[in-house]
Amino acid sequence: MKSLLPTLLLLSVAVSAGAGADAAAAPRGVDLVLLNGHVLTVDARDSVAQALAVRDGRVFAVGSNRSIRALIGPGTTVIDLRGRTATPGLIDAHAHISSGGLAAVTSVDLGGARSIGEVVALLAARAKTLAPGAWLLGSGWDEGKLAEHRYVEAQDLDAAAPANPVWIDHTTGHYGTANSRALALAGITAASVDPPAGTIDRDATGAPTGVMKEGARDLMVSFIPEPSSADRRAGILASVRLMNREGMTAAKDPNIYPADWDAYSSLAAEGLLTAHVCTLWNTGTTLVSAEAMIARLASLPGPRSHPAGADLVSCGVKLFMDGSGGARTAWVYDDWNRQSVSLDRGNHGYPLIEPDVYRAVVRLFNDAGIHIGTHAIGDRAIDWVVDSYAEALTAHPGLGLRHSIIHANIPTDGAIATMARLQRQFDAGYPEAQAPFSWWIGDTYAANFGPARAARLNPFRTYLERGVRWAGGSDYDVTPLPARFGLWASIARETLQGTWGRQPFGSRESVDVHAALRSYTVWAARQLFIEDEAGSLERGKSADVAVWDRNPYTVPTAELKDLQCELTLYRGRIVHRAEHSALRIRAGAVRASGSAASGT
Ligand SMILES: [Zn+2]
Repeated sequence: MKSLLPTLLLLSVAVSAGAGADAAAAPRGVDLVLLNGHVLTVDARDSVAQALAVRDGRVFAVGSNRSIRALIGPGTTVIDLRGRTATPGLIDAHAHISSGGLAAVTSVDLGGARSIGEVVALLAARAKTLAPGAWLLGSGWDEGKLAEHRYVEAQDLDAAAPANPVWIDHTTGHYGTANSRALALAGITAASVDPPAGTIDRDATGAPTGVMKEGARDLMVSFIPEPSSADRRAGILASVRLMNREGMTAAKDPNIYPADWDAYSSLAAEGLLTAHVCTLWNTGTTLVSAEAMIARLASLPGPRSHPAGADLVSCGVKLFMDGSGGARTAWVYDDWNRQSVSLDRGNHGYPLIEPDVYRAVVRLFNDAGIHIGTHAIGDRAIDWVVDSYAEALTAHPGLGLRHSIIHANIPTDGAIATMARLQRQFDAGYPEAQAPFSWWIGDTYAANFGPARAARLNPFRTYLERGVRWAGGSDYDVTPLPARFGLWASIARETLQGTWGRQPFGSRESVDVHAALRSYTVWAARQLFIEDEAGSLERGKSADVAVWDRNPYTVPTAELKDLQCELTLYRGRIVHRAEHSALRIRAGAVRASGSAASGT
């Protein structure tokens, strides 16, 4: 006990003075330092430092150049930021890392197409490389970006690939289009009836157009051969590499299946997962499927019981309350709109799960101590979800389960009040919101939501005023993965094309960059259950750091979208270095053990 007191004193001096004294304890020096920059710590006081030191993969100290230089030894890698800005590694609270990555490696990317002719040309080029009869897959199209402003239909695709079955997913993933060959394989004809919670889109004669929504989409997709495990691994790796290039070091992957978990587990075991990943399992739509999932999760460590330092964690379950704002299938109180001001009469969307079954399933998972994330876009769906959480938590307060409302696009005032209460009372009821929806699919959204509902999309300012915290995300591959787009969109609320005006969602709900950055760092970290590990640059946390070419706190809003990441550290290791970066890196002469700063 005698020797402990001086050590404790030393430690407290080191923390308050930004270290210094510990250098003596480590003659080799710390493993890595960043000097001469702006270090946005996103700590409780939002403090900004000049420099940062890393030891054993963790932030060892944050402070002035002088205090951090004192920690340099012969083994220290020294990075001169030359005035650049470091932030915590950005966190995406809702990104389909596995399925989005899989689409990136197996499907034709249609996100850049601006006309149906371009969609057809891109698919026709791929069809030439395929054997007759092989499936041709595409993803990322959006009628809001196409000059024709209509769905891509089967006959368009027949022209692209007459000899292959074709399926192209809409960017929302809630609907897509099959060509005639694929429709025939699935046995879809004018006589087919809509599956439960699904829509087979039809022309004036009742014949299928090829567009299949929600449950009908699932039916169609079941005919596509399962991807190989090699493709699944390649997909995850493609996503994680893209994250690292964009200064991102953590994501919550919602809606995974056993094959995704297996691919993740193998990558994590090989040390290839260079990001914290927290997964939500698809749980089906019945009490029986929910009970089966509870049994499955019992054999996996949860978000608070995994081994220290695990990159991959099974966080909980994903439920779907409703459909999509793009397909006008989300469950709303008032009729959906078309072309902004006209009405899609009689269409209020629909729940994707029997509402009373949903409520019972929430009780089951809550009582089993399992974190729930529920997809809810429409105001009516969101009300049902937050009320179900309130009922379950009041009966059985599972403190700290952080049940979330995924997307939470247009919450009512009542829902926002309930979220605030759930957050205060139960540490639950957090929106996991996608600011980039107003941009990337904003033209489709503005057309479907209509002016009154559009103004209520992503009410971030109201959240701040009512004390509601939210976590930011991309919903990749619904929108592009880089979190810088979300930082920008949280403030700008501008659509990609301005079809219905530049800001059809208004600016009343804009927030500033400080709040936007918190939603992609500390607040998102809580929703991944890693707030003690990541989300801010503070002593003891994982050294997950992004270095940017400009300072997000001082650049004009429009430039946030163009932030370039020059360097990314994950657990203190360089996992990305931009090719033309002028950062100066001087490797330590003595090899640091464990957390070597070698690039990949
Ligand atoms: Zn999603």
